[in-house]
Amino acid sequence: MNSGPVRRRFLRTQDEAGKESRLVFPPGGRAGGAGPVRRAGRGLSVGVDIGGTKIAAGVIDGHGTVLAEVRRPTPGHDPRAVETVITQLVRELSAGYRIRSVGVGAAGWMDPTNSTVLFSPHLAWRNEPLRRSLEQRLGRHVSLANDADAAAWAEWRFGAGRGESRLVSITLGTGIGGAMVMDGRVERGRHGMAGEFGHQIIVPQGRSCECGNRGCWEQYASGNALGRKARDLAAARSPGARAVIDASADGTPITGALVTELALAGDAASRALVDDVGQWLGLGLANLAAALDPGTFVIGGGLSGAGDLLLEPARRAFGENLTGRGFRPAARIEPAALGPAAGLIGAADLSRLPRRLPAPPGSTGR
Ligand SMILES: [Zn+2]
Repeated sequence: MNSGPVRRRFLRTQDEAGKESRLVFPPGGRAGGAGPVRRAGRGLSVGVDIGGTKIAAGVIDGHGTVLAEVRRPTPGHDPRAVETVITQLVRELSAGYRIRSVGVGAAGWMDPTNSTVLFSPHLAWRNEPLRRSLEQRLGRHVSLANDADAAAWAEWRFGAGRGESRLVSITLGTGIGGAMVMDGRVERGRHGMAGEFGHQIIVPQGRSCECGNRGCWEQYASGNALGRKARDLAAARSPGARAVIDASADGTPITGALVTELALAGDAASRALVDDVGQWLGLGLANLAAALDPGTFVIGGGLSGAGDLLLEPARRAFGENLTGRGFRPAARIEPAALGPAAGLIGAADLSRLPRRLPAPPGSTGR
């Protein structure tokens, strides 16, 4: 998270709908404001990050600083209900700040004009004209971006990828998200499908993947993969899995997050599992380096919280598998710097720099 200057102010929002709503104060900020504080400053944007479980929205300044943030649970999978929540959150934030632009990041494939979500894995969007719907509700222009693109953009502009001409961003969560910022622009390929790195086939005839193929990278190097490996150990009553078994004795599910926590606390078996996932990570990054030759990989998502326990084995495996190793510069592998707010920071920033988004095929977009 960027360190915020003293000029930060916070907005206390009203929960119009009476539903769960949480105002989050950025670290180092001054909580306890007596009510909405109207900022006269220019250049503020609202960024919205639509996730499968929660929708987060924030007011972001031109330096990527989060001035206020609100969150609500994602209301089921009904597109209209999701639009209603987004509209409410944007209006809440707009009541206290002079907003110049609104940007929305959503999981899913976008059409070439960044207007329609063609398909979203976690939400029931199929050819959903999300941008037009939100513009009608809000009465203002809205920009739409893929959520992984938005997070990568934020890291490039304000985080671990600053100054990098060819950046590849990897998000390790349930699966593996990917995005690229190349020469100062988000790169999404000819059909908007680039960045699906999690589905590179890394083990022929390997584990089945939700995508329909077998042996996809995310079956070996994601948070889900880490949790599954630990559950296998626990189910086998492996002597080394004592800490995992004990930690789950009260019904706590064995997830990648739990194993990461145990690894950070020093449990040897959990560290070995994280190390193994790190090696799979490094192997896949070496493949990506062979194809894309980035200068920096930024690794984010929940699993990246394991820090060097994950990244050191990744760097090792990367070096051992890199094409042309010893005769080429190797990409840096760096932890993401902005945390979970990267998506809304990037969505907000892209809303003021729409030409940095992927352009429709055939146009120069510049
Ligand atoms: Zn797959």
